[in-house]
Amino acid sequence: MFTIGCHLSASKGYLAMAKEAVSIGANTFQFFTRNPRGGQAKPIDKKDIQEFLKFSKENNINVILAHSPYTLNACSADPGLREFAKNTMIDDLKRMEYTPGNLYNFHPGSHVKQGVEIGINYIAEMLNEILTKEQTTTVLLETMAGKGSEVGRSFEEIKAIIEKVNLKEKLGVCLDTCHVWDAGYDIVNNFDKVLDEFDKVIGLEKLKAIHLNDSKNDRASHKDRHEKIGEGKIGMEAITKIINNPRVVSLPFFLETPNELDGYKKEIELLKKLRNN
Ligand code: FE
Ligand code: FE
Ligand code: ZN
Repeated sequence: MFTIGCHLSASKGYLAMAKEAVSIGANTFQFFTRNPRGGQAKPIDKKDIQEFLKFSKENNINVILAHSPYTLNACSADPGLREFAKNTMIDDLKRMEYTPGNLYNFHPGSHVKQGVEIGINYIAEMLNEILTKEQTTTVLLETMAGKGSEVGRSFEEIKAIIEKVNLKEKLGVCLDTCHVWDAGYDIVNNFDKVLDEFDKVIGLEKLKAIHLNDSKNDRASHKDRHEKIGEGKIGMEAITKIINNPRVVSLPFFLETPNELDGYKKEIELLKKLRNN
């Protein structure tokens, strides 16, 4: 089964997102747990959750991906900002348990001038404080483009974080095609070789989701500017190979392309045509 969806606005609640997903031909979706710049999350509406769980079951929505606010920085030099990132993620993970067994993605952070090793240590330290044996959510580290001092620009950096975390079974990786391309991985000419590299460094069993985006920029540009599917430097041919690669076909794919709902609908239709099963 092709598990494909896109990023949706969470403002109207879980059931509304699931219905919106189905209306554009999706069977999964991604959403921000709260305003992407941080701030308070909407209180959990138990009735909405119940209806969402029922609707999801009826409509084959088997997994959803929550995205933490992208401004959180778990490896900030400012202890107050690190504390804020930690507390926000603790609250998010508590909320995630209302929809058990799903995925929660976050950007590892930016070390700014502290150096990548200190950044990695802070991120792992935070994960060791927030992950619990009881949680049913898998927390995903997103592969980053390497803009500024972003941590997670290479598989080695992601691995270094995982290595230091005690509850490794609660951790996974979300591979963003625009980000890894911008970071320098040649997914256009040899996606399989990139997966070999991922397997060697991290282990393919840790790969839990794909952010499917084209890129406005050349490989290794370290820019992180998403483009519509087939309209960027990655291109349709490479994207077709990616969605059909046997090593990732069972993973959920999430579009984060510059689109409104209608544009997402068209991309999902197109990708379904390009997909072999
Ligand atoms: Fe992201
Ligand atoms: Fe992404
Ligand atoms: Zn991005």
